[in-house]
Amino acid sequence: MQTATIIGSGPNGLSAAIVLAAAGIATTVLERNNQIGGACSTAETTLPNFRQDLGSSAYPMGVASPFFRSLPINIPWIEPTAPCAHPLDDGTAVMLEHSIEATVDTLDECDQSSYRSLIAPLASEFAELSEDILGPIQHIPRHPLVLARFGSSALLSAASLARSRFAGTRARALLAGMATHSVLSLAAPASAAVALTLMAAGHALGWPILRGGAQTLPDALARHLQDLGGHIETNHEVVELPQSGLVLANITPRQLLRIAGSQLPPHYCKLLERFRYGAGAFKIDYALRAPIPWTAPECSRAATVHIGGSLEEIVESERTFTSARPFVLLGQPSLFDPSRAPAGQHTAWAYCHVPNGSTRDCTECIENQITRFAPDFRDCILARSVSSPAALERWNPNLIGGDFLGGVMDIRQILFRPTRLLYRTPLSHLFLCGASTPPGGGVHGMAGYHAAKTALRSLNR
Ligand SMILES: Cc1cc2nc3c(=O)[nH]c(=O)nc-3n(C[C@H](O)[C@H](O)[C@H](O)COP(=O)(O)OP(=O)(O)OC[C@H]3O[C@@H](n4cnc5c(N)ncnc54)[C@H](O)[C@@H]3O)c2cc1C
Repeated sequence: MQTATIIGSGPNGLSAAIVLAAAGIATTVLERNNQIGGACSTAETTLPNFRQDLGSSAYPMGVASPFFRSLPINIPWIEPTAPCAHPLDDGTAVMLEHSIEATVDTLDECDQSSYRSLIAPLASEFAELSEDILGPIQHIPRHPLVLARFGSSALLSAASLARSRFAGTRARALLAGMATHSVLSLAAPASAAVALTLMAAGHALGWPILRGGAQTLPDALARHLQDLGGHIETNHEVVELPQSGLVLANITPRQLLRIAGSQLPPHYCKLLERFRYGAGAFKIDYALRAPIPWTAPECSRAATVHIGGSLEEIVESERTFTSARPFVLLGQPSLFDPSRAPAGQHTAWAYCHVPNGSTRDCTECIENQITRFAPDFRDCILARSVSSPAALERWNPNLIGGDFLGGVMDIRQILFRPTRLLYRTPLSHLFLCGASTPPGGGVHGMAGYHAAKTALRSLNR
């Protein structure tokens, strides 16, 4: 019987395993940690009964994922009242609401029709757009016109798109906050792509969180895998390349070199060595005695809050990732999922981007940014747990230097991720299946899905 080993149980590893097990292959997932899920997992890092998402927390691309949507499993998404809030210094917030009109109401009047004309077509064609965005990049687009319409703005830098389309502070700030999810400089070509995708996703499908925490998703994938006959072994670190059966590696190029470098041809090793990792994250988990007391009360309508003020400030923060007033991403999931904390109390997380491998302690500057928009925030803190880039990498070695997208996602590394061979390697039984392959970082399982399909094709299935 054909066998397959998956190295790593992140969302992509589990997705790859499901595709292979469903094709009748005896599939085993090996996970080094004692818990499955990779950067999609949950644990009590602060105080007992405060369940914190260790990595990912909001899932616009998860709910859009054609693979997750195809599975006969129940994924308990919870949709917050609004996808995202972005507080400003005037005591109000600009909001990404589900409805385009409600979003437009939070913008300056001068930008209202421009927002509609930029985002409404993308939102109404989001199903088609996400099929192409989440497909393997080098395929022939299924919806070329939709993709061309998207590309005409998406290939710009976020800073120039914001300046050319909007005149007011509010829409410019909203777009800049969205673009930070690319973890690129906002002056980089195509940094607008992520912003447009996330705004369109917010209107089309929302930015859900998971009932019970991120862990709920890998647990549901694992149950389905086991129903298909697949196995999972935790506490099993792979240090040498398995020699028989298919091997799908849910790891990044640097780790592949460690495990398999001696068996790979030198020219391919060189290409893997040249793969670039991006900025890291400095993350704080909080146990809170009360909800965050935002000056702008509308911030409590969203599970995700973008903290960083104006376009100019955010551009500066994401230019070198060293600003003393960094852009901060904040999650407050327990407002919408009471299972995350004891009654009346709350969980939150916040992180800023820092240079890869940075050792700088950003606790104070992150909290200064939060208190700028919620002056009594520090009074709410019962406990905090801080993760530097090194701590993130110790927990999950895929987070090289704290990079959580599996490598820089600029145009070059999206097209050739991690090399022109994409999921394939020069070894016929070895494939890559994680965030370092297309479509890249984020919880959608699509890299695992495409890698497994590629592996099946290699068996002529
Ligand atoms: C702080 C943070 C916030 C994020 N926020 C979001 C978000 O809100 N929404 C979103 O969509 N995405 C978010 N992401 C990104 C997202 O979590 C990742 O892109 C995604 O988890 C990548 O999935 P993966 O399966 O490729 O790898 P991972 O999830 O990284 O899983 C890889 C697994 O492989 C295991 N492994 C590594 N080496 C070995 C080995 N040698 N042997 C055995 N096992 C091994 C690891 O322990 C890990 O379990 C965030 C990530 C972080 C860290």
